[in-house]
Amino acid sequence: MTATNDNNSVVCKSKDIRLQNFTEVKELFESYLNRKSNGKMFKLVSGTWNPVSGCLFNCRYCWARELAETKLKKVQRYQEGFKPSLNESEFKVKFQKGDLIFVCDMGDLFGDFIPSAWIQKVLDHIELFPEANFLLLSKNPKRYHEFIDLMPKNVILGTTIETNIDRIVKEHNVSKAPLPSKRYEAMKSLHWSRKMVSIEPILDFDLDILVQWIEGIQPFLVYVGFDNYDGQMPEPIQDKVLQLIKLISSNRLVVKKTIRPAWSEEIQEGIKREDAKKR
Ligand code: SF4
Repeated sequence: MTATNDNNSVVCKSKDIRLQNFTEVKELFESYLNRKSNGKMFKLVSGTWNPVSGCLFNCRYCWARELAETKLKKVQRYQEGFKPSLNESEFKVKFQKGDLIFVCDMGDLFGDFIPSAWIQKVLDHIELFPEANFLLLSKNPKRYHEFIDLMPKNVILGTTIETNIDRIVKEHNVSKAPLPSKRYEAMKSLHWSRKMVSIEPILDFDLDILVQWIEGIQPFLVYVGFDNYDGQMPEPIQDKVLQLIKLISSNRLVVKKTIRPAWSEEIQEGIKREDAKKR
């Protein structure tokens, strides 16, 4: 694979397989979805691989940072907390035909704080296993463009879009990552057929705009789910989320994660129950 230079610029290598048949990819992943769940964060994945770990985006709901700073804090790579690190021992790992590996679930490989040479090394290793599939998920998808001509054809390029409303992310200190509108723009203009979007943890949104965003990005795969932790962030009501799922489900796989009433709905329900008892 072609090397990067010190300016983070990338020497291009042409690939006409970037737009591999959309339906073919969708069907392959339908078959993955039908295999037995393995209890991983993403039902589809067969394993995770963390050649780079750590992240500076500081999302409020980050379970990985929480884990690194508590249960895993004695592990060498987390001794400085969630500071990004290159984990050399991970490059001995081999992958099998049919694997679907979630790369760097303990960090964000494409954060601006990750050196290009680290990304390059990860892509080079992926290239050695053309019969496995690899999911990359970043809240800085603008950086996918920097490497697009070097991407092995078996990678899925994903991003998280919790909402279309940037104001919610800013006002509630949800994340220091580029705002959702920036992620949308970067994904929409990305010339790659294997795209995915994770709408998790879902925050309140404008139904028509978020549907338009998904149509604009054209992912073959979308995850939708509420926060699994008690983040108390502004959530949409459950019916609105179910409507969203219905509207985006044609011609793509939509994986439903935790779907439940919003915490504000649960409070309302609790108040109603208390009122009913008093009557
Ligand atoms: S981008 Fe991912 S790894 Fe980084 S802080 Fe946010 S949730 Fe955690």
